Amino acid sequence: MRIVDLIQRKRNGEELSPEEIRHLVDGYTRDEVPDYQIAALLMAIYFAGMTDREVSALTDCMIRSGEKVDLSGIPGVKVDKHSTGGVGDKTSLIAAPLAAAAGVVVPMVSGRALGHTGGTLDKLESIPGFRTSLTIDEFRAQLERIGLAFIGQTPQVAPADGKLYSLRDATATIESVPLIASSIMSKKLAVGLDALVLDVKVGAGAFMKRQVDARRLAQMMVGIGRRMNVRVQALITDMNQPLGYAIGNALEVMEVSQTLQSAGPADLTRISLELAARMIHLGKAAETLEEAREVAQHKLVHGEGYLKLKEVIKAQGGNPNVLDRFDLLPNASGAREITSPRAGFVASIDAEDIGRASAMIGAGRDSKEDQIDPAVGLILEVKAGQRVEAGSVLCRLYHTREEQLDEAAQLVEDAFRISSHPPEERDLILEVVG
Ligand code: URA
Repeated sequence: MRIVDLIQRKRNGEELSPEEIRHLVDGYTRDEVPDYQIAALLMAIYFAGMTDREVSALTDCMIRSGEKVDLSGIPGVKVDKHSTGGVGDKTSLIAAPLAAAAGVVVPMVSGRALGHTGGTLDKLESIPGFRTSLTIDEFRAQLERIGLAFIGQTPQVAPADGKLYSLRDATATIESVPLIASSIMSKKLAVGLDALVLDVKVGAGAFMKRQVDARRLAQMMVGIGRRMNVRVQALITDMNQPLGYAIGNALEVMEVSQTLQSAGPADLTRISLELAARMIHLGKAAETLEEAREVAQHKLVHGEGYLKLKEVIKAQGGNPNVLDRFDLLPNASGAREITSPRAGFVASIDAEDIGRASAMIGAGRDSKEDQIDPAVGLILEVKAGQRVEAGSVLCRLYHTREEQLDEAAQLVEDAFRISSHPPEERDLILEVVG
């Protein structure tokens, strides 16, 4: 099998067989195929796409490039949840404890903030003492004991994905639906799951800017799951404005606590409850989706999700009292108000600009090596559709340093579009796939 022939066939839009894909990926992982040939192949895939059979074969090869985490010894149905990345998206920290409180086992493997999007691990690590680097044995023991544990991806899980992702980053081939789908699913399915609930974000603050692309991504990931006997359901949800009011790590933990005590923002509560209900349904802790929605609501209203999150924080070395006493979390030293230049309605809040501004003041990172400042971020004072007066506060920036503060404040100001008419109401949950 000559690598150049495989590249040529892909370039010409032909389908590669699973064996041919294995030859390429295994060769690359073992450093036997050079970067320049795989770079050309990635670009061919970017333009020619991949069939369902090819994308499943690629996912399978990436899973096999590393270790699989076997959870079969743990009783119960194992269900994880994954979001394709958003701004102010703290739904994992709400939906997972609600589902675990309902009896679903939730082995949550989470990511870190990158670019304008946040990451669950960074949010959790804003809790002093919280440890996300559990060993696999600790992870299993915690799942068995309390039904929920959060860890980061270990270098042993799907290493071929890490290698390919770096090359995609350097060759402008990140934004390819089959490459994104196989990258996400290889990391998720390397952990022995029975089911997976996906939140595919679409809009200004998301990877996918158009609903057709989000739908294609969702369909592809659902299909990969089906072919590997893992039940996958995807919600396509709006990310045209940040989710909730808080953006930034400790600030988002505070909003999670409020939401798990039934005092959270309406949009965040709605999506979190729906994700939890889908996890509960796929996790067989309820017979129908309707019943699962009632269970999720009950767990929220009775504070059982809140208590479950406290249990997890304690188990992973953090102080569970942070959920009641926000002064125990890192707090910023300064605040700057952004006010409205005129009266009108908030027509839109560009989530990508808000995410970039919060990263600029230290809540996120541009490259994997950057350090996060857990205390900083933004609190929106208004959401799209609300009426504002000239001089009303739109948003507060919480900071600990002056560096890039003016630039970030300008970006936030520009993110708000004020108009004389109220915007059309948008549905938050746009579609369900699977
Ligand atoms: N997240 C991933 O893990 N991989 C991608 O390719 C894109 C987003």
